[in-house]
Amino acid sequence: MDEQPVYDVVIAGAGPAGATAAYFLAKGGKRVALLEKATFPRDKRCGDAWCEPALDILEEMGVIQELDAEGAVQWVRSGGLVSPSGLSFTSPDEGEREGAPRVAAIRRMVCDERIARAAARVGAELIEGAAVSDVKLGDGRWAVRCKDGRRFSGRCLIAADGAKSKIARALGVVKTGANSVASRQYIKGGTHQFSSDGVLLYPRYVLPGYVALFRHSNGDIDLGCYLLPGGRVPPTKLKSLLQTEVASDPYVRAALGDHAEPLEPPGLSPLRLGGEPRTHGERLLVLGDAAGQTDPLTGEGIHTAMVAAKMAARLLHEAFDAGDLSATRLSAYHRAWMREFGRDFSISAAAGRAIHRFPVLLDTAAMAAQRHGASFMDDFGAAMTGVKPKSLFLSPRMSIPLGAALLGLLSSRAHTKYASGPRAEPKHDFSFAMNALQVSAGGAR
Ligand SMILES: Cc1cc2nc3c(=O)[nH]c(=O)nc-3n(C[C@H](O)[C@H](O)[C@H](O)COP(=O)(O)OP(=O)(O)OC[C@H]3O[C@@H](n4cnc5c(N)ncnc54)[C@H](O)[C@@H]3O)c2cc1C
Repeated sequence: MDEQPVYDVVIAGAGPAGATAAYFLAKGGKRVALLEKATFPRDKRCGDAWCEPALDILEEMGVIQELDAEGAVQWVRSGGLVSPSGLSFTSPDEGEREGAPRVAAIRRMVCDERIARAAARVGAELIEGAAVSDVKLGDGRWAVRCKDGRRFSGRCLIAADGAKSKIARALGVVKTGANSVASRQYIKGGTHQFSSDGVLLYPRYVLPGYVALFRHSNGDIDLGCYLLPGGRVPPTKLKSLLQTEVASDPYVRAALGDHAEPLEPPGLSPLRLGGEPRTHGERLLVLGDAAGQTDPLTGEGIHTAMVAAKMAARLLHEAFDAGDLSATRLSAYHRAWMREFGRDFSISAAAGRAIHRFPVLLDTAAMAAQRHGASFMDDFGAAMTGVKPKSLFLSPRMSIPLGAALLGLLSSRAHTKYASGPRAEPKHDFSFAMNALQVSAGGAR
């Protein structure tokens, strides 16, 4: 084998986590090898919903501006949710609203490559078709070998190889397998009836998970179903759930209409939710899905992966400056992302269990949104997705509307039979469903 250059950092995996870390490390002058087993453009199953912190980083890289100019970004400006009892709130598109957190639908097939190319533009070496198969630490260097025999050497290793976390598991840093699963199916634009930008459906059969519909800029929709911990459907049952409950879900059927053309069969991919207890080691960091940096209440992990990657790069620059890449020094990374968003994951997991036991909580949120409009929905969305801390739910601006809505719901229970389960769900009235998905706030039922 030829003598290989020694990189400051070798990164395995060029998803949003690895490529973002590569960008900020290379920008700060580090010599970075970004190894990706696939060849771009590569697909990654996802709901394709990019939340504000990810969009901020994409903006810093110049990526969102490029994609927006090309018409590849669908800003999510209309939409909302349908609660377990069929209460819905969907806001119309009122353009950009001040203070509303930005969300955009962008295909992973497109955006992931752009992030990796942005990293290459600032000096990272992007090496595609490089599937890392073996990593060993010796003499202060990682020896990294790929399936095809190529070798790389680095002072530090970042494992950003996704939810299966094979590298960190092989090193014994991460000890368990992925803990949940989600699906994606693209539906061809012009063949369906869905005209909002994004709607989350919370039917009882999947709680505390949900079914999501996001519309892309070319009119295609991304139909996803997320199984989240605390519910009664095990990950192994998602496929049959898609064929039965989701296929016959009246809201999904109303959104798709009778002539929807799927562009692919529904596909499943693993989720690693809730944060791993250890995400660092000697000269080693674990990032993104590999580190379980995905919120257990939503299954969303792009923005958390990117935020953690940016932090990791900053802390690594400092560690290089101090000449100390020990596990003790790098534990600062684990503490930093836990402080930033990881601690909220235990609240998310508890909230998921609560939603499963008391679906009325989501009815309450839908009713509060009906009463208080899009600004309440913005706060609700930001807290659910972790863009703002979950403690926002306890703030007066959320807790008062939620408390009032709960009282309203409880006092009207006798008439509306919300508590009596599926029987009380809207008689799956398609015209209501169409309103919920297409127009604006539906009335309380
Ligand atoms: C169906 C589904 C829907 C989702 N929807 C959303 C959503 O709408 N919004 C959101 O925020 N999050 C969503 N998520 C979560 C989101 O996809 C992840 O949190 C995000 O992809 C994490 O980025 P990552 O870079 O850590 O991992 P990944 O995106 O998985 O990237 C890992 C990369 O590593 C590469 N790789 C793997 N092994 C090796 C190896 N041995 N050598 C070299 N390269 C390797 C892979 O090819 C891949 O490119 C969804 C997840 C699923 C499964």
